[in-house]
Amino acid sequence: MYEGPVVRFALARTAIARPLMLVALGLGAACSGAAPPTAATAPPRQGEEAPATPAPAAARPEAAPPQAAPPGPAEAQAFVAAVDRELRRLRIQSARASWVNQTYLTDDTDALAASAEEASMEYLNRAMKAAARFDGLALPADVARQLALLKISTSLPAPSDPAERAELAALSVEMTSLYGKGKHCPKARPGRATTAGLGAARAGAGAEPKCLALDELSSLLKTSRDWDELLDAWAGWHAIAPPLRPKFERYVALGNKGAAELGLPDVGALWRAGYDMSPDAFEAETERLWGKVKPLYDELHCYVRARLRAIHGKDRIGEKAPIPAHLLGNMWAQEWSNVYGLMEPYKGQPSLDVTRKIKAKKLDGKQMVSLGERFFTSLGFDPLPATFWERSLLKKPADREVVCHANAWDVGDRDDLRLKMCIEPSEEDLITIHHELGHVYYFHQYYKLPILFQSGANEGFHEGIGDTLALSVTPSYLRSLGLLDRVSEDEKGAINFLFKKALDKIAFLPFGKLIDQWRWDVFSGRTKPADYNAAWWALRLKYQGVAPPVQRSEADFDPGAKYHVAAGVPYMRYFLAHIYQFQFHRALCKAAGHTGPLHACSIHGSAAAGEKLRAMLSLGASRPWQEAMRAVTGETAADPGAMLEYFEPLRRWLKEQNKGEVCGW
Ligand SMILES: [Zn+2]
Repeated sequence: MYEGPVVRFALARTAIARPLMLVALGLGAACSGAAPPTAATAPPRQGEEAPATPAPAAARPEAAPPQAAPPGPAEAQAFVAAVDRELRRLRIQSARASWVNQTYLTDDTDALAASAEEASMEYLNRAMKAAARFDGLALPADVARQLALLKISTSLPAPSDPAERAELAALSVEMTSLYGKGKHCPKARPGRATTAGLGAARAGAGAEPKCLALDELSSLLKTSRDWDELLDAWAGWHAIAPPLRPKFERYVALGNKGAAELGLPDVGALWRAGYDMSPDAFEAETERLWGKVKPLYDELHCYVRARLRAIHGKDRIGEKAPIPAHLLGNMWAQEWSNVYGLMEPYKGQPSLDVTRKIKAKKLDGKQMVSLGERFFTSLGFDPLPATFWERSLLKKPADREVVCHANAWDVGDRDDLRLKMCIEPSEEDLITIHHELGHVYYFHQYYKLPILFQSGANEGFHEGIGDTLALSVTPSYLRSLGLLDRVSEDEKGAINFLFKKALDKIAFLPFGKLIDQWRWDVFSGRTKPADYNAAWWALRLKYQGVAPPVQRSEADFDPGAKYHVAAGVPYMRYFLAHIYQFQFHRALCKAAGHTGPLHACSIHGSAAAGEKLRAMLSLGASRPWQEAMRAVTGETAADPGAMLEYFEPLRRWLKEQNKGEVCGW
């Protein structure tokens, strides 16, 4: 799973502004896909060591006299330069503190990381407001763009009232913390399979069943095929969320107050403002993209539902019914590849699982990362800097607590790139390494830009790069590494491969879209607090075609059982990344001279593809994302056509399989 909250660090605009202690608590990082806290770096200037030369007083945000004459372009330029210096200083400080914290968790490192983060937050708050002085001025394009990016550089705008700001920060931490500590404590129920069995097994003979954390409940959802046991795990986890509900409601109110001070209608409008189009146009754009891929999703849904019906019975999964949300191998039914084994299209094809080989070859984390690096250098990218190998954490330490969620970092000065990941010898981790190195190489390509440009062209780009490369990790490429013995040459093998991919990539799309659809409606007031849960399930039904397996009411708060809602991390980036990565893949395959089906393409070894990719990455956020898109694809809009082309053989096959089924819900 690559959707990691971590991302907030990755992108300068989200990163800088994150409510502090989320980081410090070490609750963040899930994804593998994430990116880092950080301040990347610029070469030292003459006579100025990077850390912090304080800005000249006149350029400091707080220094603007209330009744001063209207500022001119020179003042705007000086302001932007001062912000750049100060953000570098603050972010280097906070990235170092966070790194130490997450790789050595103690109360002291928590506190150090929180205070560094708080300093960034406080400064940013002032700078964002001060930037408004330059509204309406005719400015050089790069200055105007840095000011615009500064003004949307937080996903949680705090009210200026110090008490309210403190309350909002505290709410953020409390929600994340409640989520992080969430546990399901099963009760034995005679005659019914429940998670109590697992809890009892964990506890040992004679003891009370042990309470189960999310990772344990998630592995149960992956592997159990028992309706009641799955239901118990699902309902048990969702029961952690009701205490978040009043906090979330208050967080919405305070966040909206902060947004209003920035002149925005609500927090949702701020989240939609980072896409080089109006917030309304962006909302319409996500709906347009979804409309294009929905027919393929519907075919997949129909096929999967029929297979699940064969297992669980017609009385539990009706003809035109939504799929019960606990049966898809994932707590949120967001990626379904864990149920692949239940419905593999063709038996007897060569295995697609490379884990066995990785174990047999005894590859360690460093060797696996080297395989990933080799992919990038084959495209003409630089080798990773020596400090990457010295400073990264690639193995879970035995003697201390660390945050194991994989993420990529750009710590401080001078291309200080790192990977933090407790690597296991598995296929999943090998793919995740490629994903994370996508972030690392993005940092590497733009680290010399002004700090406000040091982020993805938009939030979806950063997530999409690593995944793009991972699409080139095809069975044939894996065989060339000696990680698969045989690769199927026929249509059946291709269908198995595409079906497994679709269970993750296509199944994810409606979920990726609806999380923020729900929050946008909440922030705008379209969804009232009294309807939080009903509105959530209305969207899950509408987009995903899934339904809660047990009765829900407004006493529940099911959105809060998802990390990104509890932690306030915007989510639309993952939806976009899923669309973009196929578009990038198609363009790079074309540059590499690939002919034949898109799913069989690997750009490994193509200097031409590498050059195009670097042209895009090097722009960072310095230009509207449409230009970055053009640099690699020649196109200026998101186009789900590439994804549809990739899965076309599967779509035809699914359509055939679904004959006689009543699809839809
Ligand atoms: Zn990522």
